Amino acid sequence: MRTQLYIDGQWADPISKGTLDVINPATEEVIHAIPKGGAQDIDLAVRAARRAFDQDGWPQTTGAQRAVYLRRIAELIRGRSEELARLEVLDNGKPLPEARWDIGDAAGCFDYYAGLAENLDSDSSADLAISDDRFRTKVVKEAVGVVGGIIPWNYPLLMAAWKVAPALAAGCTIVLKPAENTSLTALELAAVAQQAELPAGVLNIVTGLGGEAGQALVTHPQVDKLAFTGSGKVGSHIMAEAAKDIKRVSLELGGKSPLLVFDDADIENAVEWIMFGIFWNQGQVCSATSRVLVQEGVYEKLLARLTEEARKITIGDGLEEGVLLGPLVSKQQYDQVSAAVVRAQEDGAQVVTGGARPAALGKGYYFQPTILTEVPLDSHAWKEEIFGPVVCVRRFATEQDAVALANDSRYGLAAAVMTTDAKRSERVAHALRAGIVWINCSQPTFTEAPWGGYKQSGIGRELGKWGLENYLETKQITAYTSNDAWGWYVK
Ligand code: NAD
Repeated sequence: MRTQLYIDGQWADPISKGTLDVINPATEEVIHAIPKGGAQDIDLAVRAARRAFDQDGWPQTTGAQRAVYLRRIAELIRGRSEELARLEVLDNGKPLPEARWDIGDAAGCFDYYAGLAENLDSDSSADLAISDDRFRTKVVKEAVGVVGGIIPWNYPLLMAAWKVAPALAAGCTIVLKPAENTSLTALELAAVAQQAELPAGVLNIVTGLGGEAGQALVTHPQVDKLAFTGSGKVGSHIMAEAAKDIKRVSLELGGKSPLLVFDDADIENAVEWIMFGIFWNQGQVCSATSRVLVQEGVYEKLLARLTEEARKITIGDGLEEGVLLGPLVSKQQYDQVSAAVVRAQEDGAQVVTGGARPAALGKGYYFQPTILTEVPLDSHAWKEEIFGPVVCVRRFATEQDAVALANDSRYGLAAAVMTTDAKRSERVAHALRAGIVWINCSQPTFTEAPWGGYKQSGIGRELGKWGLENYLETKQITAYTSNDAWGWYVK
């Protein structure tokens, strides 16, 4: 495991020499220490990224040349996938099959953006039809510059890939600050980039605390663009900081996403996707469908089946065979989820199942799959992200009521609708104010499709061609091609 920062193609100790403990959330044991980078390390990393961008020619490489590096990175990740998946489990706690999935998706993300980088070579010189034939105009896309990428802990390597792959594809250079409690695979990504012979300074990884390394990256005057995934609170702060020098900013923030089950839905299918939507990754998912709205005709039946299945979930160390729910990522997260459930009960909610640590597990930040009902609409549990395996279930009468309840949130990341009526699913999908709507499923995510939220769930889109746009500027190049003089001043 790496113990140094990756700056300008070299491994380096942080200037402060400080470290941060890495804790395995399944055992509460300290398993490693990562460097605690600070403002001076960020400054070195940004200067390296600046030089790689301004002087060493990375943005002038063709998309096809950049694609070679991206594909090498994808291949090297795949070559180490089992090792990286196990590291992710130790660091984050998620079950191994989920970690394997993440690592595969991270490699796929590099491959996908390799393809888009190649497309940039052909897309960039198209003539634009304009209203004056004395001029010729073309539009080109160019890299935005040095990117400051800041990511959360719920999908450590995958979130790194979502930032690094499109940024490099676009011709940007990047300084990435991973989450302080899950930095191990990001440091391995640096090792992979080094092995892929990515030029020095193009990718720099500085681990450290949000308020120190993160803050220094956000406020660094030589950073052109901030790409952030994390909480709304920090996102709002970053946007305010970015505003001071008009840095470009894209934000992927939280959610309180609704899942609507209509009377005509296939109940078994609905139960499966409700569980996937809130228990996958221990519910630590920005798009988790944490508010389940069920039409009154099937409410009792669905709640009974959901409760029955939730109680059967195997909880334990993510490295153990058959485990479907691992520990939460940290003590802090465990405390927050526990406190949210206590507060929900004080506000009048009923705990149908779960609500506490599993009795059999003495150590580790485990929390039972939890179902809440009678959750008041103005309560914290209904309105705010809990970011744990806690779902609020509520009944509704009509489609109109369901859509109104679903949209009554300051968030708008995702939503899901369960119905066998195709007209209804189409109607409701359009009525829901969310960046992603799933029909008869919840959570499937595709590298090719846009990802991001309405309202306070963020600004901009990641993934797909939209994710590449985050890292591109648009330039018009206009030439005067007429043989006649312009003749305004000089007659
Ligand atoms: P967080 O906002 O606490 O931290 C995210 C990152 O920001 C970390 O790397 C942290 O060190 C850094 N940070 C903290 N303070 C900072 C500061 N002042 N300046 C710069 N950086 C700072 O979020 P978290 O607890 O790590 O992650 C959970 C949140 O992320 C949830 O709200 C979740 O919904 C959201 N999330 C959103 C998406 C999405 O795609 N929309 C994906 C994953 C997670």
